[in-house]
Amino acid sequence: MAEAKQGGIKKIAAAKTLRKLMADHFYELDRAAKEGHPKVAWCTSVGPAELLRAMGFVVYFPENHGAMLGATRLATETIPTANAIGYSPEVCSYMTSDIGAFLQGRTPLTEAYAGIEAVPKPDVLVYNTNQCREVQDWFAWYGRHWSRPVIGVECYRGVGQVTGVHVAGIAGQILTLVKPLEEISGQKFDIDRLRQAVRLSRQCSDLWKEVLETAAAKPSPLTFFDSTIHMAPAVVMRGTQVAIDYYHELLPELKQRLADGVAAVEGERFRLYWEGMPIWGRLRDLATQFLELQACVVASTYANSWIFTALDGDDPFKSMARAYTELFIVRSDPYKEKYLQEMIDTFGVDGIVFHDSKTCPSNTNCRYGMPQRIAERLDVPSITIAGDLNDLRCYSDEQARTQIEAFIEQLSGRA
Ligand code: SF4
Repeated sequence: MAEAKQGGIKKIAAAKTLRKLMADHFYELDRAAKEGHPKVAWCTSVGPAELLRAMGFVVYFPENHGAMLGATRLATETIPTANAIGYSPEVCSYMTSDIGAFLQGRTPLTEAYAGIEAVPKPDVLVYNTNQCREVQDWFAWYGRHWSRPVIGVECYRGVGQVTGVHVAGIAGQILTLVKPLEEISGQKFDIDRLRQAVRLSRQCSDLWKEVLETAAAKPSPLTFFDSTIHMAPAVVMRGTQVAIDYYHELLPELKQRLADGVAAVEGERFRLYWEGMPIWGRLRDLATQFLELQACVVASTYANSWIFTALDGDDPFKSMARAYTELFIVRSDPYKEKYLQEMIDTFGVDGIVFHDSKTCPSNTNCRYGMPQRIAERLDVPSITIAGDLNDLRCYSDEQARTQIEAFIEQLSGRA
């Protein structure tokens, strides 16, 4: 099968379907917000989306909007507006770029989707602090602005083994969301609808896992940079059939690449792991540099974060509690290091790129000696790139480029 290329980067044909799905997603939200029906819920990216779908909400994920602000580099222009109202340049740049964009009356949705002028106004904002406390602050700002309820789940942090105590605590908190959500949606809670949403979410997660696992092949048919695009249905559409249908289209395409021996990075010489947030405004530059160096970033903590193997429609509340607590970001350093070891083995990783993301300490794991411990224990070298998910003032193109080149040279010396 002939592979379409753009600047050496091989295009994935399913991307065409993805563009349509994303357009449908945002137009549905825009319509709901304008017509007042169905109700709109804002949800954090690893929040209880299944419950919201089961209660008839259409679900909007502000972090996805934050990523769009970063990828379009609009974030650089909007962050200072949030800084000016007291939100520090040191805190989550998804949050500051998003609030700043709102205050400026701008959104990348307008450019991408004709007729959409603003993000969809919420009827309720639902968070889970499993990823960080910043999401709660972020939603609180909009809650105050629109006088809308902000409810959610307060998660444990630094969890080693996830126990029945953790699961019961979080499941209980998810259960307490039902009553206010009934009042806001005007719909009675139906356990069968929740079971179904959890089942659909689990199917989506299993397929997404299979997609990512294709990168274990040598050469890999997929890069981390591809996954940052194709993860979108697993993030914003989990709990729906369309997300499942999408991965039923993407997966065979990747399997065909495997059968044909098609490498995402021509002449793949090195296999890397990306630890930390993407640098949204530099994805293309980084993808191109790694491609030129014949290094494939085969796996990442970030893309894996939407694999929820614990979800079980037969036990929806507890399984959601477990799935949303078992996440890497919630866990202790010893657990994280064990997890990284498994990733290194499974994907045949030669080296790790740690991203020290200035405004996201929760998704930055290189500040307490982890790279050194991994190098000593597993003999896997790493580099740490200073940067940020959205605030490009924290990132030096030249420095990162030089560091990456030197790292690949170091790996060449070990080969
Ligand atoms: S995990 Fe990081 S990037 Fe995501 S919302 Fe929290 S602080 Fe922001």
